[in-house]
Amino acid sequence: MKRLEYPARIKELTAQLKRMPGIGPRSAERIALWMVHARDARSSEIADAIGAVAERIRPCSQCGFFTEETVCEICADPARSGGPLCVVEQATDILPLERTGAFRGKYHALGGRISPLEHVGPDDLRIDQLMQRIQNESPPEVILALGTGVEGEATANFLAGLLKASDVIVSRIAQGLPAGGGLENADELTLSRALSGRVTVNS
Ligand SMILES: [Zn+2]
Repeated sequence: MKRLEYPARIKELTAQLKRMPGIGPRSAERIALWMVHARDARSSEIADAIGAVAERIRPCSQCGFFTEETVCEICADPARSGGPLCVVEQATDILPLERTGAFRGKYHALGGRISPLEHVGPDDLRIDQLMQRIQNESPPEVILALGTGVEGEATANFLAGLLKASDVIVSRIAQGLPAGGGLENADELTLSRALSGRVTVNS
């Protein structure tokens, strides 16, 4: 006897939802069925919101943060010009630093960190763009706000090596961030302290 299953469309929606981070098979099915049952689920609004994000949001051509324009709000802000440049691993690291209120310069997201294990080398990161920006914008200081794990360490050392010969001051945010963790897991006070307690690495 054929086993009864949900109609193909529900199965398809469940399969699509399951692809999202943090959504397991049971949650995916629950959400799909909620969309079928609930009159106020307004599923078309959810679909529109997903479509709009996918279509309109892109990385800022300068720093890599999320924007609908070519250049993000931070990079377009004239008050930020002439300030230090803060280098982070991911675009998602920018907001936690911004929320501390302790930094008023611009950012540069590398798009990851050097990781031989995951086959990520310097060429896979936005390092050329970083060097170009340092040349064009001549920031007084480059602050490396990278993760504290072995890979964050390797990335920071690589960048410090590249910038050794240049005039720019290179500093690293103080330790005290959660070991191996990205900036998104650190609270504002920790980040703010890490920023103010940064140490120069090329003096
Ligand atoms: Zn930007």
